[in-house]
Amino acid sequence: MENFETLISDSRVLESLRQGQEVVWINPDKRCLEQSMQGCELNQSDIDDAEQRLFRFAPLIQAYFPETQPQGGLIESPLVAIDAMQACLNRKYGSVQTGKLLLKKDSHLAIAGSVKARGGIYEVLKHTEDLVLRHHLLEPGESYAKLGDPDKKAFFRAYTIQVGSTGNLGLSIGIISAVLGYHVVVHMSADAKQWKKDLLRSYGVDVREYEGDYSEAVRNGRMLSDADPKSYFVDDENSRNLFLGYAVAGKRLKQQLDEMEIVVDQDHPLFVYIPCGVGGAPGGITFGLKQVFGDDVHCFFVEPTQAPCMLLGLATGLNNKISVQDIGLSGETQADGLAVGRPSAFVGGIMKTMLSGACTVADEKLYRYMKDMMDTEGIFLEPSACAAVHGAVCMNTESETRRYLEDNQLVSRMANTTQIVWATGGGLVPQTIRDDYMRTAAELEKDS
Ligand SMILES: *Cc1c(COP(=O)(O)O)cnc(C)c1O
Repeated sequence: MENFETLISDSRVLESLRQGQEVVWINPDKRCLEQSMQGCELNQSDIDDAEQRLFRFAPLIQAYFPETQPQGGLIESPLVAIDAMQACLNRKYGSVQTGKLLLKKDSHLAIAGSVKARGGIYEVLKHTEDLVLRHHLLEPGESYAKLGDPDKKAFFRAYTIQVGSTGNLGLSIGIISAVLGYHVVVHMSADAKQWKKDLLRSYGVDVREYEGDYSEAVRNGRMLSDADPKSYFVDDENSRNLFLGYAVAGKRLKQQLDEMEIVVDQDHPLFVYIPCGVGGAPGGITFGLKQVFGDDVHCFFVEPTQAPCMLLGLATGLNNKISVQDIGLSGETQADGLAVGRPSAFVGGIMKTMLSGACTVADEKLYRYMKDMMDTEGIFLEPSACAAVHGAVCMNTESETRRYLEDNQLVSRMANTTQIVWATGGGLVPQTIRDDYMRTAAELEKDS
């Protein structure tokens, strides 16, 4: 503990972080892409490989989930302008966004209704392909749609997929695995929402609940899975497959920007704000975007004031060797997708020289942004997803970010920027829960 103490007393940001205040942190270790890729274990060809695998599975996904038909069985979300929200942020929070503000609606991704539909589903498909090849389940050249035939589907029943989750990862892994035919066990922490457990059980998923926190659920899940040779454990903290599934977003976003005739180059920089939990989703997306847009994209993570694990790991240089509890924070937040006390070591290592910065947001603001988004755009996002909105507000109000813009010769280019709020979840939240959230938001607004 003592060495953390000296580190923290030396840093104003860390001291504020410890007090649970909102902070903005600019990464002093960020390097140009070329340098940050040196020694990196993953690269664009790994992402291309993941992309090709998703193409191979597209006919099967389309057969099981007809809502993916318009996109030919690919799971991808819309990118939309949110001009009314932009005006609202400028008016209510003193933000001055002169460029274009867009919303990336991973909240509305098919199947899982959250960003986890990228990494989680990809990982299960990768494992499935490994099994298919090992057991010669398909003839060479045969369509993966055949895996939906009853005799082939029955094969997967002998295999188990397990995962530990606070909610959304469990939903994504649980739904896709159950539909493909696997036996699925999802280990959930006590704070996981009841409706998520109910929804999983409706798919026949074995949901186990733990009194303790997320790490206990993960520990138990891993132990049970390791004891069974036919069981596969999805490891949220260390999985390269999850990460690559998220990274596929990079090239796809480029295509969407091209279709909207939005240019990204040195004179037209791109800013992206992504909510962060353990780091896999925002880290993978950032990695994918960096491969496509290089130094013209500036990525920022947003975390709850009580669970800023990635910011803490990066700012202290201790990565996963420090937890938010070590500095006296609770790790508790209404943003259940972000309630993580310790970052992924693997992701922290890659983000160290790639991430532009991070900021934290108080829970109460998540509800305000949620209501703003509903009032101005009629779009529902879950509280976790609204953390991304705070990134856009901070970038255009805080003095720390001002310095980032100056240091990177961006000030005069701000009118040409595209800023993307990466909305990570909300699509599957039942109406009654949405109503509860909205009531909380309305009360907060009345009190202020
Ligand atoms: C999981 C999740 C995140 C963050 O992803 P990590 O991989 O845990 O960093 C953000 N928002 C939502 C809604 C999520 O479910």
